[in-house]
Amino acid sequence: MNYQSGTIIGASALADARRVFDRQHDLSRRESPPSLELRRDRLAQLRALISGHAEELAQAVSDDFGVRSRTETQLMEIAPSLGAVDLAMKQLPRWMAPERRRVAPNLQPAKAWVRWEPLGVIGIISPWNYPLQLAISPMVDAFAAGNRVMLKPSELTPRFAELLARLVAERFDEGEAAVVTGGVEVGEAFAGLPFDHLLFTGSTAVGRRVYQAAAANLTPVTLELGGKSPAIVCPDYSLAKAARSIAWGKWVNAGQTCIAPDFVLAPADRADALAEELIAQAKRSYPAIAGNPDYSSVISERHRRRLQGGIDEARRSGARILRHEDAGAEAEGKIGPTVVLHAPADGVLMREEIFGPVLPIVSYRTLDEAIAYVGERDRPLALYCFTNDRAAEERVLGRTLSGGVTLNGTLLHVADESLPFGGVGPSGIGAYHGREGFRRFSHARGVHKVGFVNALELLGPPWGRAAAAVGKMLVKG
Ligand code: NAD
Repeated sequence: MNYQSGTIIGASALADARRVFDRQHDLSRRESPPSLELRRDRLAQLRALISGHAEELAQAVSDDFGVRSRTETQLMEIAPSLGAVDLAMKQLPRWMAPERRRVAPNLQPAKAWVRWEPLGVIGIISPWNYPLQLAISPMVDAFAAGNRVMLKPSELTPRFAELLARLVAERFDEGEAAVVTGGVEVGEAFAGLPFDHLLFTGSTAVGRRVYQAAAANLTPVTLELGGKSPAIVCPDYSLAKAARSIAWGKWVNAGQTCIAPDFVLAPADRADALAEELIAQAKRSYPAIAGNPDYSSVISERHRRRLQGGIDEARRSGARILRHEDAGAEAEGKIGPTVVLHAPADGVLMREEIFGPVLPIVSYRTLDEAIAYVGERDRPLALYCFTNDRAAEERVLGRTLSGGVTLNGTLLHVADESLPFGGVGPSGIGAYHGREGFRRFSHARGVHKVGFVNALELLGPPWGRAAAAVGKMLVKG
């Protein structure tokens, strides 16, 4: 693959992708599953690739965005990726160990166990918003499970994609891992390769197309999609504390986080106060927007227009808009933290995933009303609930469903590698991270070993009286 030539689009990139796939596929069928040592070595290579180039990687991501906080890239992308490697390195012996199962009396004497086998070749399609973490984290799980990996990063972060392609090519044989760069055309062809599993992270709309392409090959998928993740502030909870957590989770990466709170459900008599508190918190966190390296740009002009269009539409319909912005923000491709009260229910902001620094507040009168509001909509990727009342917490958890949850905080469930991460319904299919990631990219192969005698075979056929008696006994209940 030509990694020097910038974005590769066209027949040669597609032919290269096919050739690499064939090589990985062939090796995965010919070679035994990699040993613990080999898996650990691949993970160590991945670790070195990231930690040895952390500055360069953060710079490439920032250049792709316009401005992307280096500290955020360190904290939210590089550190969690290294954390995932370290966890896998440590836990691998436990994860790989075959699991004994209890054999039912009618099949005794016998032994049974599950072997966690590598699937073979894993395809990963990743988005631009956390380009490093969302590429590396699935790679860690796929390597841990003993697979080979092909990755297609987003064309919206081209400098990062080219850098990662080069670094991966330096450290891995293309039979183990390869990066295929390119746009939608390459993505489509990539999704059509007959992988043993395909993990896609991106929008629900593209996820549908990827699922269809994979279905043609009966390729199983993990779809990590988006959606409108609600934050419910319960009446008992401190507004200042809730605002601090919501502001943190919303305006990191300028709201371009798949699990960012998309909108807030607040008690009707506190919605205005919460809006003021959120903007005050935004001003404390980001005293300036223009020239502030901590506050990220919106990725593209198209996304900025979409967000601004949503704000303008809400204003026209009488919504109250609170905004923290300064001159020059626009020139840096930034939209300042924006809170919207009374956004129209049928407008862009309440219909679509926002995926930017705009935060509508929806007011509710009773907690049941807030729960019903969530239940009437697509099952979200994340849900946040702020309360110290255990009964309210249980009511919200018991009567809603989302991919994951952080209570009294935001975003943290994704950072907790001890938890599965994924969506449900339109927000995704399947989960990965940690042990769930290892299992996602493994085949759970059931093995039954016959003991000193095979009782069922002894019974017949021909089926005699003994078989009939055993049959009667087994079906008696
Ligand atoms: P996107 O769906 O536009 O693109 C994602 C990837 O798919 C890119 O690499 C792109 O090149 C590729 N692609 C585009 N069209 C394709 C096609 N027809 N076939 C195959 N591949 C194709 O998403 P995006 O704009 O990069 O990311 C934003 C979305 O991702 C948001 O909806 C967000 O919520 C979601 N997201 C989800 C998670 C998660 O973990 N669940 C994480 C981050 C982002």
